[in-house]
Amino acid sequence: MELIIKTNKREELIDITNLINEKINEADNGIIHLFVAHTTAGITINENADANLPKDISNFLNKLVAKGIWMHDKLDGNADAHIKASLIGNSVSIPIKNGKMELGQWQNIFLCEFDGPKKRKILLNFLKTKN
Ligand code: ZN
Repeated sequence: MELIIKTNKREELIDITNLINEKINEADNGIIHLFVAHTTAGITINENADANLPKDISNFLNKLVAKGIWMHDKLDGNADAHIKASLIGNSVSIPIKNGKMELGQWQNIFLCEFDGPKKRKILLNFLKTKN
């Protein structure tokens, strides 16, 4: 199964928790694996109760990774996006019990865009276990 998400800015963290929830059946037990099939976007789990936190993560990565100083920038100017995507990683796995992801109270799933706006593809794979 796959999910296509259209991003709106060069850099943004988009909460996709509800979109993933819609793909889970009531009877599902096991693990859902989410894989971002790109080199300039990533996926992470963190808090969204305070809307400033995703911005802080984005701002932190911008302080950490300079823009326009890398060898790959001569090719397409987006080396910083590749580096940020590698730091964040491109997959997460979440346990599912009786059709619900067992996320912690404050955990949400974010698609991390570093070189948008673009159409991004997330692959969803279920590893099912018996009840
Ligand atoms: Zn590139």
